[in-house]
Amino acid sequence: MSTAASEEREIRLDLAAAYRLIALDGMDDGIDTHISARLPGERFLLNAYGLRFAEVRADSLVTVDADGKVLDDPTGLGINPAGFTIHSALHTARPDVNCVLHTHTVAGVAISCLEEGLLPLNQWALEFHDRLAYHDFEGIALALDERQRLADDLGNHSAMILRQHGLLTCGPSVGKAFLRMRNLERSCQAQLAAQATGQPLRLVSPTMAEHVAQQYENWAASSAGSDRAWLAERRRLDGAGDVL
Ligand SMILES: [Zn+2]
Repeated sequence: MSTAASEEREIRLDLAAAYRLIALDGMDDGIDTHISARLPGERFLLNAYGLRFAEVRADSLVTVDADGKVLDDPTGLGINPAGFTIHSALHTARPDVNCVLHTHTVAGVAISCLEEGLLPLNQWALEFHDRLAYHDFEGIALALDERQRLADDLGNHSAMILRQHGLLTCGPSVGKAFLRMRNLERSCQAQLAAQATGQPLRLVSPTMAEHVAQQYENWAASSAGSDRAWLAERRRLDGAGDVL
């Protein structure tokens, strides 16, 4: 297998694993939402529109170009146009972003409905201190002119709350985008659990929040940390049948 082919194979395996893990963790939403990955040559992989995340396999991913034109579709199902509106905007604006992961979870949507958004309440949430973008709701993301606003709102961040809609993370690899999403999801769940008690909330100081955010950044940049965490996640799929 050529270097390019083996590189593509690895990206496909990572991306299919991310779909399966999102389903395993209950972060999927029927056939909706999307995870995209960049391939060499400005091509992108996306889920076929009609498969549940638990059904996605490395060889069933659809290849599209930067305009969303289907280049290869082993399923014949095509892609969700709204999915690629969001993802192409961010891949195009951010050459460092090789994976974009989007969810509609109850906890993520609930936090997206709060005026104050995500609070610096717990260790997970501090990964996103001063590093979390917000994008106002514009209806289902079908209009191509929303792409510029999505990219402008994300800026240089790697996580964004889509108001009234859901969560989005991105990263230089599928694994890093997945691990970031898991923390964002848990941050949302923990905030809702704390708020549900009705007790006064104890916020972390901005100084401590910045300190912890930088600790997360150092960890994410370390292959010893985040790469082994992603491989450990992938092993959760061992024995799950012909997953990949
Ligand atoms: Zn969505």
